[in-house]
Amino acid sequence: MNFEFMFPTKVVMEKGIRKRISQYIADLQIEKPLIISDHGISEAGMLHDVIEDLWKNHIRTSIYLDVKPNPKDNDCHHCAHEIDGKGIDGIIALGGGSVIDTAKTVSILATNGGTIKDYEGVNVAEKAPLPLVCIPTTAGTGSEVTSWAVVTDTKQQYKMAIGDERMIPKLALLDAELLDSLPPAIAASTGLDALTHAIEAYTCKAANPISDALALYAITLISDHLSDSIVLENIEHKEQMLVASLVAGAAFGNADTAAVHCLSEAIGGRYDTPHGEANAMFLPFVFDYNKTADIKRHADVARAMGVCIHKSDEEAANRCVAKLFQWNDALNIPRFHEVPQVNEANFADLATRASQNYSNEDNIRSMEPEDYLFILQTAFYDHR
Ligand code: NAD
Repeated sequence: MNFEFMFPTKVVMEKGIRKRISQYIADLQIEKPLIISDHGISEAGMLHDVIEDLWKNHIRTSIYLDVKPNPKDNDCHHCAHEIDGKGIDGIIALGGGSVIDTAKTVSILATNGGTIKDYEGVNVAEKAPLPLVCIPTTAGTGSEVTSWAVVTDTKQQYKMAIGDERMIPKLALLDAELLDSLPPAIAASTGLDALTHAIEAYTCKAANPISDALALYAITLISDHLSDSIVLENIEHKEQMLVASLVAGAAFGNADTAAVHCLSEAIGGRYDTPHGEANAMFLPFVFDYNKTADIKRHADVARAMGVCIHKSDEEAANRCVAKLFQWNDALNIPRFHEVPQVNEANFADLATRASQNYSNEDNIRSMEPEDYLFILQTAFYDHR
C-alpha cells in the first residue's frame, strides 16, 4: 500500500469570522493583499464586512471583482495584469470555486508571469505562488483545500487543470453566515458537487485509507444535511455542508476524481454549464456504469448514504443509483438534453476530450471514448 496524503491548510470555522479576517492576514505576514471576489458576492454585502475589518486595521487592499462562473483564461490574465507592479504579497479569495480558482491562477501568474496555459499539468511553475486565504461562499467545490485550479481554455474550449502543491491555500475561513444569501438552486447543485467529489474519491483507483475515511464521512454528512426537499434551511445545515465540502475536497485532493469529472469538465468547457449541475447530471449514470467494477465500494457509498444497509452489495449499489436519480429530480437538477446549446453532433468530440482528462486513468472502470459516448447518449435520451 503506497500513498501520500497532504493537508497543509489551516482551517478555522466560526460564524462571522469574515469580520475578523485582519488578525489572520497579519499572522501570515501579508501586508498588501488583493481581494478577489465577484459582483454577486459584492452585491450580497459579504465583501463589505471583509474590507471594513481590513481597513479598520490599516491593511491596504486592492480589489478585483470581474470573476465569471467557470473562470476563463482571459479573465485570469486580466486580473494578473491589473495587479502587476502593485506590490501585492498575498491573495484573499471570497467566493465560490470560480473565485478561488481564479485566485489560485493569479497567485501563480503574479510570481511566475506568462500565461496560465504555461502551467497546465502538475507542479510546472518554477516559483512559489503568492499565499492564498480562502473564504468559501458555496458549500461544494472544496477548492479551499486542494492543489488544483480549473480554468477554461477559451480557444480550445476545454477546462484545463493546473495542479501545484504550493498553490494549496494557507488558510480556509469557514463562515456559515455567508451561505444565507445562496440561491437554493446553487446550494443544491454545489451540494451535489461535494457529493460527487466524495463518491469519486472513494470509488476511484487513487483512493487511500485517509481519503476513504474522509470521503465516507462527507457522504454521510451530505446525506444528512442536503435534504432532497429543503436545501440548507438552517445554520446547522449550512455549517455541516461547509464541513462536508471541505472534507470531500481533502479526500479527492489526495485521491482523485473520475469519469463524472471527465465528462463534466468536457461539458463545462464546451457549453459553460455550471460545474455542480454538470457533475450532478452525470453522477447516477457513471455510478451505474462503474458499479460492477467494484461492487463492494459502490455498496459502501450506498450504506454511507443510509441506503439498503442490510441488503446485498448488488442491491445496495442498485438502490443507490435510484436514490441519486431521485435526488437530482427533487433538487431540480437539469437533465443533459436541457443544457443550453447541447448538440449531439458534439458528442464524439466531448467523449474524446473526456477520455483525455487527467482523471480518466483513475476511473475504476477503464474508459475509452466509446464508453463516454455511451454515457453521453444514455444521459441525453434519458426521459425517465
Ligand atoms: P461559482 O463560484 O461559479 O458561483 C456560482 C454563482 O453563485 C456565482 O454567480 C456567484 O456570484 C454566486 N454565489 C456564490 N456564493 C454565493 C452566495 N453565498 N450568495 C449569493 N450568490 C453566491 O460556483 P461554484 O460551484 O462554487 O464553483 C464552480 C467552479 O469551481 C468551477 O469552475 C469548477 O471547475 C471549480 N471547481 C474547482 C475545484 C478545485 O479543486 N479547484 C473543485 C471543484 C470545482
